[in-house]
Amino acid sequence: MGSIVLFGPPGAGKGTQAHRIMEQTGLPQVSTGDMLRAAVKEGTPIGLDAKSYMDRGALVPDEVILGLIRERIQQPDAAEGVMFDGFPRTIPQAEALSELTEITHVLAIEVPDERIVDRICGRSSCGACGAVYHDTFNPVPTTGCACGQFVEKRRVDDNAETVQNRLAAYHEQTTPLAKWYESRGLFHRVDGDRDIDEISSDLLKLLE
Ligand code: AMP
Repeated sequence: MGSIVLFGPPGAGKGTQAHRIMEQTGLPQVSTGDMLRAAVKEGTPIGLDAKSYMDRGALVPDEVILGLIRERIQQPDAAEGVMFDGFPRTIPQAEALSELTEITHVLAIEVPDERIVDRICGRSSCGACGAVYHDTFNPVPTTGCACGQFVEKRRVDDNAETVQNRLAAYHEQTTPLAKWYESRGLFHRVDGDRDIDEISSDLLKLLE
């Protein structure tokens, strides 16, 4: 089996769906956003460099991202393929990725711009297991997170101003990838503005 790319704007639900696909298929999630946030938290040189880009909602330079990816896919759990979440985000990243591993599916979760701000503001996740929640659309169950040890995390860049820059970066730098993957016959679209279970079910069908 090769690797999968989850594609879509910020707040499309890539993390939520990655978590579900991971449970069903066992493919590990590789989120460059999560890797960068971990680097920022640890205060590594990469984290220190990336933080200024992330805080303003701009893309981190390709070489930094590709360095992280090259190292990550050498890990034993990546041998059978991985599920990329938030990567690639530029044509040079996709070109470099095609040299590193075979991509079998690019699954695009489509959500209109006007829905993105509401979806991003109010978002939280569980620091223990990575499950993604939303105050209104997908609240933490009253019994707590399924993992039993909910640790609430909120992202500093999940605010209304930064979202506009993240959306602009998506439209200018990332959407050209749709054509790039379409021309290679790998691109599949699902409507991401629906019930979370319906989206997961469509994504899993595409992977069958
Ligand atoms: P995400 O968690 O995917 O929304 O990413 C959060 C932030 O990390 C983005 O706004 C970018 O600043 C940076 N980032 C994550 N993945 C990439 C990538 N593949 N290329 C460039 N920047 C990225």
